[in-house]
Amino acid sequence: MSDFVLRVGSRSAQGIRPNNEDRFVVDLTQNLFLVADGMGGQDRGELASGMAAEIIPQVLHERMAAQDSPEQALRQAMAQANQAILDAGQEQPEGRRMGTTAVVAVHRDNQVFVAGLGDSRAYLIREGKVEQLTVDHSVAQALVASGALTPEEARHSPYQHVLHKFLGCSNMGDGADVSPFEPKAGDCLLLGSDGLTNHLNDEDMLDGRARFPDPQDWADHLVQLALSRGSRDNVTCVVVTFEQS
Ligand code: CA
Repeated sequence: MSDFVLRVGSRSAQGIRPNNEDRFVVDLTQNLFLVADGMGGQDRGELASGMAAEIIPQVLHERMAAQDSPEQALRQAMAQANQAILDAGQEQPEGRRMGTTAVVAVHRDNQVFVAGLGDSRAYLIREGKVEQLTVDHSVAQALVASGALTPEEARHSPYQHVLHKFLGCSNMGDGADVSPFEPKAGDCLLLGSDGLTNHLNDEDMLDGRARFPDPQDWADHLVQLALSRGSRDNVTCVVVTFEQS
């Protein structure tokens, strides 16, 4: 059984948008990390991502205290946040939606449990390789999975940012998928909103990790890099490094 020291860097930038609809959570008492990217008119996006950032850690805490497994607790937390955001969106005018993505990671029992809804992403950076741990719930990605689009076509598709699964969605299907991995010393976990991940490739993630030993400097660098490449969105990232204690 390995014990790790987790070191974390986090940053959220409004960019050129009139408001910041991204939210993040770094909770080192629960070893919980979250990025949420809200959508909706006026202040609705911020309200939705704020609700996700509040409800998910709270439900996880309650469910794990009640001896639920981390998978069950995560799925329950996502389901409760979904319902609360749906309820809050009831007074929205017809055709307007209120919702948010959420990508969540919890380190527990020498495993990291990752769940995502929407198109915010989690990546594992291990031994010089980058692995995307989450699937984008965009219509374009679903068309790639069915063979109707190539990944390259999907990048330019008008459906790239149309989500079919997110928090505040009336049909969640079978809910959030939870995938665990066993961390190794030297691993890095990166959570990001699409304002970040649309502008970075694998080399950027590997190169930054090598150059910035302090995770906070690394997070600052990644956000700055996305902005310098013309991200017109809110840009958010949380990076977690696993170091042998
Ligand atoms: Ca976004």
